[in-house]
Amino acid sequence: VALVPVHLGELFREMLPMLRNEATMHGILLRYEPRADLPPVFADKELLKQVFLNLGKNAIEAMEQRGTLTIRERRGFGAGPEVLVDVCDTGPGIPQESLERVFDPFFTTKEQGTGLGLSICQRIMHELGGSIGVTSGNGGTVFTVAIPAAGKRG
Ligand code: ADP
Ligand code: MG
Repeated sequence: VALVPVHLGELFREMLPMLRNEATMHGILLRYEPRADLPPVFADKELLKQVFLNLGKNAIEAMEQRGTLTIRERRGFGAGPEVLVDVCDTGPGIPQESLERVFDPFFTTKEQGTGLGLSICQRIMHELGGSIGVTSGNGGTVFTVAIPAAGKRG
C-alpha cells in the first residue's frame, strides 16, 4: 500500500457518524477526544478506518445496551514518533487467559463471530509499520493502536 500523511481528525470525521449510529442503536455513548496538537500519521486512510471500525464494533458488542465507547488520541514514542489511539470500552473486560489469544485468527467467543476482526487489524497495523495492543480489566478494555507519525516533509 502507498503510505501518505493522514489527518486523524479528518479520518474520524468521515467514519465516526457510522460508528455513532451503531453505538446509539445499542444505547452506548460514543466519546471522541481529538488532539489538535498531534502530527498527522503516515498511513493508508481506508485501512486505518477498517481497524477503528473493527475495534469500535467489538467494543459495542462487548457492552450490550449500556456503556461508553471512548476514542482518545495521544502522543507516543516507539521506534520513532507515533500517534496512539486508544479505543476504550466499559464492557466486562477480557479474561486473562483469553487476552493473548484475541489476535489469533478464528478466536471468537461469539455465537456468530468469525474471530477474524482483530487478526485483520493486527495484519493491517503491521503493514502500516505500526502496532496494536490490548489491556483489560474489570472496568473494561482498551485497545491501543500505534501509528507512525508523518515527518516534517510528509
Ligand atoms: P469476533 O468479533 O468475530 O469474535 P474478533 O477478532 O473481532 O472476532 O474478536 C475476537 C474475540 O476477542 C471476541 O470474540 C471477544 O471474545 C474478544 N474481544 C474483542 N474485543 C473485545 C472487547 N472490546 N471486549 C471484550 N472482548 C473483546
Ligand atoms: Mg469483531
